[in-house]
Amino acid sequence: MKAWILEAPRTLRTEEFAPTEIAENQIKVKIEEVLITNSDFEIYTGASKRKYPFIMGRNAVGVVSKVVGDNPFFNKMDRVAIEPYIPCEACDECKNDEYDKCSNMQELGYNCNGLLQNFVDLPYTLLHRLPDKLSTEKALFVPYVAFCLNVIDALNLEKGRHIAIFSSTKTGLILAQLVSYYQAVPVFISNREELLETARGLGIFYSFNPDVTDVENEILAITGGRMCNELVLFSNSDFNMKDVYSVAAVNANICLAGYSNKESKLSVAQICRKHLNIFGVYNGAGSYSSAINLLVTDTVNVDSLIGKTVSFDKLDEELERTEPEELVLKSKVVKIN
Ligand SMILES: [Zn+2]
Repeated sequence: MKAWILEAPRTLRTEEFAPTEIAENQIKVKIEEVLITNSDFEIYTGASKRKYPFIMGRNAVGVVSKVVGDNPFFNKMDRVAIEPYIPCEACDECKNDEYDKCSNMQELGYNCNGLLQNFVDLPYTLLHRLPDKLSTEKALFVPYVAFCLNVIDALNLEKGRHIAIFSSTKTGLILAQLVSYYQAVPVFISNREELLETARGLGIFYSFNPDVTDVENEILAITGGRMCNELVLFSNSDFNMKDVYSVAAVNANICLAGYSNKESKLSVAQICRKHLNIFGVYNGAGSYSSAINLLVTDTVNVDSLIGKTVSFDKLDEELERTEPEELVLKSKVVKIN
């Protein structure tokens, strides 16, 4: 077994381990591909600090390598997406079977060791079998789609309603496609031109850059003065909350999506004056099967988000010369041989 260990910011080394004995209810998975996203890169550079040593890797696809005893759900060679969320099973939410709301959730590659290794033992409950038709590269985006599905669940989507999506990252493009699928109208707001261009290519007609367009005026015109009742702000984006309030209708719902450590000033006066309802969604737990289905049917298209393939052995050299801008639209795919 071999893993990349992050010893300090920008310092990776490989380490070999003796093969482990798998425990009951666990499955040994051979990791095939891992996605390197903006968030992973922030962990790599130390912009997002971790307790070192740390194994990165949150989005991965693997193949079942060994099953102990009679597991009726998985067979050797099954290709699987890996759900990185491990609920604590002890908090009140877990005891109520509301695992996605667990107050002590562990996430592989985020707050506990991740998937940037060639073999890993995982509880079978975290594995989701993939249909043959879905390519491994597309399947790497299952966690993104699952997360956006949980955002959709938290919003009050109505046919024909305009949903404002503030996003400096590619996740907003996935959410915008889902909003269209559920027959509401996405308004994609980004300060990244490459994301806006991709959005238009995906048929997201209302795509604006607040640095060059008066977004408040545009939304005033599009909505006939009603503004947006549902808004999403990806928390790792670079927006001022003022931009968000300015397009919100009275009594609007604002979803803060993700768990970025970026701080944003919330204006209490604005929240009160407009009776805004603000809430957070940060994970895709519980939505993996639906996410797989939406990708295999091409309801969500992620072709433009798949970036360069990198070999596992050369990952340290590759990350050393990576600029964060490269990861805004496309994530890198690490192939593990
Ligand atoms: Zn819990």
